[in-house]
Amino acid sequence: MAEIIKNYIDGTWVSSKTEDTFDIHNPATDQLIGKTPLGLASDVDAAVSSAKKAFNSWRKTPVIERVQPLFKLKGLLDLHKEEIATLIVKEHGKTYKEALGDILRGIQMVEVATGMPRLMMGESLTDIAAGIDCTSTRRPMGVFAGITPFNFPAMVPFWFWPFAVASGNTYILKPSERVPLTQVKIFELIAQAGFPKGVINMVHGGKEVVNALCDHPEIEGLNFVGSTPIAKHVFTRGSACGKRVQALGGAKNFMVVLPDAVIDQSVRAMVDSCYGCAGERCLAGSVLVSVGDAYGKVKEQVLKEVQKVRVGDGLRPETTLGPVISKSARDRISADINTAISEGAELLVDGRGIKVEGNENGYFLGPTVLDKVKPGTLMAEKEIFGPVIGLMQVDTMDDAIELLNGSEYANTTSLFTTNGGAARKFLDEVAPSMVGINLGVPAPMAFFSFGGSKASFFGDIKVHGGSAVEFFTEKHTSMVRWYEEGIEAAVCPIWKED
Ligand code: NAD
Repeated sequence: MAEIIKNYIDGTWVSSKTEDTFDIHNPATDQLIGKTPLGLASDVDAAVSSAKKAFNSWRKTPVIERVQPLFKLKGLLDLHKEEIATLIVKEHGKTYKEALGDILRGIQMVEVATGMPRLMMGESLTDIAAGIDCTSTRRPMGVFAGITPFNFPAMVPFWFWPFAVASGNTYILKPSERVPLTQVKIFELIAQAGFPKGVINMVHGGKEVVNALCDHPEIEGLNFVGSTPIAKHVFTRGSACGKRVQALGGAKNFMVVLPDAVIDQSVRAMVDSCYGCAGERCLAGSVLVSVGDAYGKVKEQVLKEVQKVRVGDGLRPETTLGPVISKSARDRISADINTAISEGAELLVDGRGIKVEGNENGYFLGPTVLDKVKPGTLMAEKEIFGPVIGLMQVDTMDDAIELLNGSEYANTTSLFTTNGGAARKFLDEVAPSMVGINLGVPAPMAFFSFGGSKASFFGDIKVHGGSAVEFFTEKHTSMVRWYEEGIEAAVCPIWKED
């Protein structure tokens, strides 16, 4: 009998009163491994009430004390990272190596957030007018909440809450109902790290909890990561309720190859980008756009690289491509492959119907390659979120830029070349705001800011790095003058009335 997991509210593990649950399956075996309560608005109320109460004292706790639990948590996460990675493989399906990367990237967020005493410093200037000093400080705002997707069960929640709480806010996390077990383990460690009750809470659920978070009048801001339609929904609904919202959406990522590129290394990086984490990354490459005669070389090399892919259970050391998240995801991707073929793409490698010995019930999809993808077709426009590569050929780099800039999404893109001038032009002209040169997955690290543009991002302040401090604080500016008995204070010339 699979256990129904609990919420973490006010420093205590509590059951939701809901009777509705979501089954969590191991995608490599189809085994039922847990149940997520699809929580209620009353769960959100309880978490907000605890977080609001905690905020009153947490905001006045010196920042140097606020980061101490993060130092402790960093040590605990290091000690338990292998266990967490194994849990990620079991509930998400990615390979163990990818899962370890997932938690390590999360730990880096904690490390960077411990620098908050320096990160949230303000600005000041003395004598902005004679005898008047001006100081701008950054103040925490209150309760924030985060809603996260299934594809990085460990890392994505860490994009937000360590920065939020280190800067003096309190927080409520709603992880994806598909992969909550990783966060249950991480919250067991959070519970040992020394945060006061209510500073960091977790409520499980789906639509009802998300909408309650959007509507709650005592939540100041929302972080969302997921598909574009839900990102738009959360941005619109949360903003209408007066919240500060950043909502990261889906993607369609093009990788452009010039004829002068170092082909074997470039293709290795691109294939890894497309098939890594079974293509379930918001920065996953999807369409490889070859310029001129790069096309033949790229195609030949892609077919060689595909031979090296080993599909299987992510816990097996030889596996390089794990299952996708669910049966319905596998069916959806298979249907997309059918549509691509009906729209004229040529199927070079077919991953549908693959069987993995010993894992006959797993949600596997082998590597797939579609050639001769045409602009305007599904494969050129829709986020596939699976291990599928599309190949295209264009005449010039300008054509490639026009093609990728025509996408409704703009999360990331990469150029593969040895030509510095071409790289500079590409960096300057492409719409996506995360760009790689000779890199397949140009994911900004914790100390830089992350986030795409167009339908891949709703909001104005990006994620982590310096942007996190912008998002989780409000600037508060004071001007100060001290009178001295018997001395007439000077008046600033620009304020003097004629
Ligand atoms: P999703 O949109 O289905 O779910 C994301 C979150 O929204 C979950 O917590 C879920 O419970 C909630 N949700 C789902 N349906 C809802 C509804 N109808 N109303 C209210 N809330 C709802 O996304 P997913 O399938 O978990 O994740 C994959 C998507 O996330 C992909 O599109 C991927 O590109 C995107 N993603 C983007 C980034 C980025 O940085 N831009 C990063 C990771 C993932």
